[in-house]
Formats: sequence, structure tokens, C-alpha cells
Amino acid sequence: MNVPPAVVPAAGAKLHARRCARHPTREAAARCPSCREFFCRECVVEHAGRLLCSVCLGRATAAAEKRRERLAGVRRLTWTTTGVLVLWGVFYATGALLLKIPAEFHDGTMWRRAAAAVSEP
Ligand SMILES: [Zn+2]
Ligand SMILES: [Zn+2]
Repeated sequence: MNVPPAVVPAAGAKLHARRCARHPTREAAARCPSCREFFCRECVVEHAGRLLCSVCLGRATAAAEKRRERLAGVRRLTWTTTGVLVLWGVFYATGALLLKIPAEFHDGTMWRRAAAAVSEP
């Protein structure tokens, strides 16, 4: 049983039978995978291995740009957090080290006692 041509979906139609959505006089060379419209060779641009129309290309690059900006923001936040944590760790370790030094080191009695121990026969 043959399907009458009127029922055949537009997607099933041969490419060369199609016309460019923007140039009705030109044969379609490609179909934009994003908006599903047919376009002539001049109206499509290759982008990331796909042939996109200029409208979808603009949308795709804008989305990629937004994604890149968001990623850069996340990366910046990660580095800032890492930097703050590393600095906090360094200052904490320095503080802990200073606390371990006995008080007699600061008031000088430690050195006097060491000198006395050395001078003793
Ligand atoms: Zn498109
Ligand atoms: Zn065209």
C-alpha cells in the first residue's frame, strides 16, 4: 500500500526538493539540526561538526559563551576559597608553633640557664 504524498511528513522529503527558508529560489543544501528548517549552502555555517543556520549559530555561541563565563566564575571562586584556606592553614600552623615556644625563651631566662650549664665545670 502506497502512502499518498500529502501524508508524507516534511522531514521525509528529499533535500533537493526543498527550498531555503530565506531564499525561496535556492535549493536547500542542509537542514539545521536545531530549528529543523532547510537552508541553502550560504545560509548554514559549520559549528562543532554540525551545520547550523545563522540564528541557531548565534544562539549556540551565546550559550557557549555564557557557559564559559559561568565556568570561569566557578573556577575563580574555587581558587579564592583554596587560597583563603591555604593562608588560614599557614597562619594557624604559625600560631600553633609560636604557642609551643616556652615563655622562658621570650623572657631570656632560658639562655641564662643554658649559659650557666655550659660554664659549670
Ligand atoms: Zn537553525
Ligand atoms: Zn539561503
